[in-house]
Amino acid sequence: MAEWDVVVVGAGLAGSTAALFSARHGRSTLVVDAGLVPGGQMFNITRIEDFPGFPQGVAGYDLCPMLQEQAAAAGAEFRAGTVEALTATETGWSVTGLDEPVEARAAIVATGSTPRRLGIPGEERLLGHGISHCASCDGPIYRGRAVAVIGGGDSALLETLELVDHVASITVFVRDRALRGQHTYASRVEAAEKVTLAFDTVVEEILGEDAVTGVRTRSVATGETADVEAAAVFPYIGSEPQTALLAPHVALDPDGHVPTDVWMRTEVPGLLVAGEVRAGSAAQAVTVSGDGATAAIAADRYLATSAWAPVETSVAG
Ligand code: NDP
Repeated sequence: MAEWDVVVVGAGLAGSTAALFSARHGRSTLVVDAGLVPGGQMFNITRIEDFPGFPQGVAGYDLCPMLQEQAAAAGAEFRAGTVEALTATETGWSVTGLDEPVEARAAIVATGSTPRRLGIPGEERLLGHGISHCASCDGPIYRGRAVAVIGGGDSALLETLELVDHVASITVFVRDRALRGQHTYASRVEAAEKVTLAFDTVVEEILGEDAVTGVRTRSVATGETADVEAAAVFPYIGSEPQTALLAPHVALDPDGHVPTDVWMRTEVPGLLVAGEVRAGSAAQAVTVSGDGATAAIAADRYLATSAWAPVETSVAG
């Protein structure tokens, strides 16, 4: 069985940047990702506007492959496969679930997050039948129709702006009194003629038998309920870190994230995390990339010295 210096799990921006830096430090580096098209959540974003160095923005489907090409050119190997378990060995970490087991002296887990579920009636039944978490993929299907977005953070705002190009109208249901995403997106959403902002409004049910036909809402202020027509619902209410591989090894914080020090080191020697799985992540494209670079440099130092400081800076999420 080949032993790698570093195995990186996840080939989103965090994992791919970790691979780039690890390979550039001369470490044999394997990246494993379940997706056929590695790139993580950013892959589907049509225009990432706030990644430094791209004044016109950059598409996720351009940036992610370019980054992987850069990491591969530096010597990292990318392999498709779902990692089922990460097991501590005498010399490091063993990864199972691939065609053959993989061993590495250090592991960087950059598995990101998955969209949080609403947990309301209709959601389970209609997921994939009008409920979508990808406006750029599914927006064109609803050309000329009315759709709903749920949430008031950056994802909801960015995806609303994506939908504006395709659909007839968008109602954004926000359970608070204000949007909480960045000002640039918020002001554009507020100015968009096709968009209606429904503040103080909770979506209680997604309506439709075989396909979404609308949502049932409740006003937080008055308790009044209403049925609103919509051909599709795009919920963006935050995300859950994917920490199944890590939970057997490290204690998670109350939100399910992994505490690290500023070098992305967990409490366990040789195990590092990067991106949205870690506690205190700012969850921006540039910051998760930075996490990946930091983790790779920390792994390189660990492999050189075997020194591992205890986690000192556990930042609340
Ligand atoms: P956020 O947690 O930032 O926002 C979630 C939104 O959903 C909030 O408005 C929240 O309301 C609302 N919400 C939560 N639960 C429910 C519920 N059950 N019903 C209705 N509404 C609910 O998540 P995002 O996915 O928007 O962003 C995650 C991270 O990714 C952030 O750090 C963000 O900055 C980043 N990001 C950055 C982008 C960029 O272009 N820079 C693009 C996309 C994401 P409440 O406030 O009441 O909790």
